[in-house]
Amino acid sequence: MLSRIRVVLVGTTHPGNIGAAARAMKTMCLSRLHLVSPEKYPCAEATARASGADDVLAQAQVHDSLDAALAGCSLVFGASARRRTIQWPEVDPRECAALALAESATGEVALVFGREHSGLTNAELERCHYLLHIPSNPDYSSLNLAAAVQVIAYEVMMAGGRPAAPAAEESPDRVTAAEMEKFYEHLQQTLFDIAFLDPANPRQLMRRLRRLFNRIQLDRNEYNILRGILTETQKSARIEEPSNP
Ligand code: SAH
Repeated sequence: MLSRIRVVLVGTTHPGNIGAAARAMKTMCLSRLHLVSPEKYPCAEATARASGADDVLAQAQVHDSLDAALAGCSLVFGASARRRTIQWPEVDPRECAALALAESATGEVALVFGREHSGLTNAELERCHYLLHIPSNPDYSSLNLAAAVQVIAYEVMMAGGRPAAPAAEESPDRVTAAEMEKFYEHLQQTLFDIAFLDPANPRQLMRRLRRLFNRIQLDRNEYNILRGILTETQKSARIEEPSNP
């Protein structure tokens, strides 16, 4: 559904901000970028700032009017750093994300961002269903363009559910429960050998030791070290008591 949500940058002055916005989008699984009359584009600085998101940049569509960029959209949000005097329904990024995601099930959604110096004009805002304001310091409410894209893209992605982490591979370093049982047997036997544990009543101590080891997940290296220590401990216990083969 994120593929039905586009980011529209209007009249961007600094090409670096276009690249940074592309990067902000890609980190949050958004890919559709539309540019309305950018001042300098394409531009090496945009590509440089996009870093690994140059694919988003390469697919960006450039238009000469906002109308063209909004073609096919059934829901439009206009991001503004300023609360306008015009009465317009206002949402914060989280509310916007919920609405955008719901709409994207059946329609196209646009998130529109304004110029670095002057934002969106009132005429442009009137093309939007909602004014989208990121709550911020009332005395200093203007985020950098790409930072504003980042905040909103993050909320949109999270509204759709956190992306699945890459499938955790069966780690060869994990010690299995069956191996841990072998370890506990070995540990108990060693504690008998050094006469730390009373064979008549081993229960309580072994249970406590299990609890101790359950609090950590041993990896294979650590497991092997402990087994090695137990083996050597058993050997020296036998040397000290030559009568005990
Ligand atoms: N001086 C401009 C600020 C523009 S910042 C003004 O007063 O409007 C560039 C763009 O980033 C804005 O047009 C808006 O789309 C977005 N933006 C920056 N801060 C924002 C905020 N607090 N909430 C919503 N959008 C913001």
